[in-house]
Amino acid sequence: MTVNILFSARPALWPVYEPLLRQNLLDAGLEFHLSTDIPPDQVDYVIYAPNGGLRDFTPYTRLKAVLSLWAGVESIADNETLTVPLARMVDHGLTQGMTEWVVGHVLRYHLGMDQHITTQDGTWEPDPPPLASERTVGILGLGTLGTASACALNSLGFDVIGWSRSAKEIAGITCLHGPEGLRETLSQAEILVLLLPDTAATENTLNTQTLALMPKGANIINPGRGPLIDDEALLAALNAGQIGHATLDVFRVEPLPTDHTFWAHPNVTVTPHIASETRPPTAAQVIVENIRRGEAGEPYLHLVDRTLGY
Ligand code: NAP
Repeated sequence: MTVNILFSARPALWPVYEPLLRQNLLDAGLEFHLSTDIPPDQVDYVIYAPNGGLRDFTPYTRLKAVLSLWAGVESIADNETLTVPLARMVDHGLTQGMTEWVVGHVLRYHLGMDQHITTQDGTWEPDPPPLASERTVGILGLGTLGTASACALNSLGFDVIGWSRSAKEIAGITCLHGPEGLRETLSQAEILVLLLPDTAATENTLNTQTLALMPKGANIINPGRGPLIDDEALLAALNAGQIGHATLDVFRVEPLPTDHTFWAHPNVTVTPHIASETRPPTAAQVIVENIRRGEAGEPYLHLVDRTLGY
């Protein structure tokens, strides 16, 4: 029986993904029809990205699963027309990219790189940076990306403390959870990385009260999602010196409007949502493995808990 697979993402991705998906589907021994245009009532699987424009799943009457190309699923998790399993993207290439980005930006702060890169004024005042073991990095979110980043930082010697919804044990990392765990993590984090999903429960995790818990002059790195931070509270904390500097990759409105205060703020670095992205060669393998599982009656990988929103 032919499996009908609809690719619903930004059109520019189709020529990139099509040959990779075809090869993996052939390798999996599946008989398939893969296209960007299949009548809704004939579609078995949707390979999905929010920028593909698909919002109403009602006409997809024989749909078995939706397979997201994105790790963050906030724009589809609460879609009431979707009644079949939703899998998010967990891709080795995406994880590796995020780990590299996080480690790079943590090292920027840890080593005080800006001081010598942006200022070459003849000043000779040696002030070598401390060792990583003398620096505590906090990570909010110990999922796929947070855990990989935490372990990479720990392997460099950083003292890493992480926070998640449920209790965890990760070798070398101090793992905390719950409201008291958040307070403890924030109070110790000289550099804080946000890798939480965007859900109702995580909105404004960093706000006036929680920012005040951090060590004075702490640095923040947000490759998670914009709504994790109350922007006005962050600006106030930056202006008061409570937060030393913030590197923000994600925003409530993207692209970040050109007149937004973040662009011109001397203590903010804006990057245009480039911390990491799904890598087609590895992502195609993940997608096809889930289709193979669906056809074999095996459990899907990386299912989203729709009640939790991630
Ligand atoms: P994940 O595996 O689902 O991990 C999410 C983590 O957040 C888990 O540890 C989870 O706790 C924790 N969490 C969720 N809700 C919480 C709450 N209310 N309180 C405390 N902890 C909570 O997700 P991931 O793959 O690591 O991705 C994380 C996020 O990164 C994505 O959702 C996306 O927004 C973002 N992202 C950004 C980029 C970029 O380029 N900027 C690229 C990819 C992804 P449990 O472990 O207890 O469930």
